[in-house]
Amino acid sequence: MASLEPLDLTGVERVLAVMAHPDDVDFGWAGSIATMTDAGIDVTYCIVTDGDAGGSETGISRVEMGPRRRDEQRAAAGIVGVTDVHFLGYPDGRVEPTLALRRDLSRVIRQVRPHRVMTQSSERNLDRMYASHPDHLATGEATLCAVYPDARNRWAHPELADEGLEPWIVAEMYVGVGTSSLTHFVDITAAVDRKVAALLSHKSQLPDPKATEKMVRDWAAANATAAELPAGRYAEAMRLVPTA
Ligand SMILES: [Zn+2]
Repeated sequence: MASLEPLDLTGVERVLAVMAHPDDVDFGWAGSIATMTDAGIDVTYCIVTDGDAGGSETGISRVEMGPRRRDEQRAAAGIVGVTDVHFLGYPDGRVEPTLALRRDLSRVIRQVRPHRVMTQSSERNLDRMYASHPDHLATGEATLCAVYPDARNRWAHPELADEGLEPWIVAEMYVGVGTSSLTHFVDITAAVDRKVAALLSHKSQLPDPKATEKMVRDWAAANATAAELPAGRYAEAMRLVPTA
């Protein structure tokens, strides 16, 4: 793997993270997001489903699960400095990159007007099956389509213009694990404890929190090694995709 470069956040004021399920953003990005909010960047979350098909071993009813997971995601967001959390309410396990989802994501992009959008990979990675959940692939694809061309094209989803939402161009995207080549990293050493705390907010999904914490710290340490950081440091990695 070519060595990873540090992500340059100069001039970035607003970032939107689009994820399929509550907890995806915390597994993948909570350290980077804490680092961004520490730097004064406004970060918004858009979560496509309520994760109501998750945590099947807990005995929590499906009716209860969605609201509970929204609450868990809001709590996790607060730990890393995020207060603006949108939920689109699509059914968990049935996400497809439809025109309706592209429109709904374009609406959020035009409302938030982010300089960067973070999302999941639309490419299936046969080495990382959990990263390649079908909802993640569909969310990644729909988000790419919303960034280019939908959100920037006045004539795409004309109902958005009728709502008074002006076109918006997102200059770069950060795509998560599963992508064919990671290019950049964020040193999250100062934020790794908050990443773990955010992740552990998803209590309905974590039958063994200690094992989850160890797994996530190991991932972050491996990313730091890939980024050629000194021992004892932690990182998150992503692919930077120019979109302007
Ligand atoms: Zn997920």
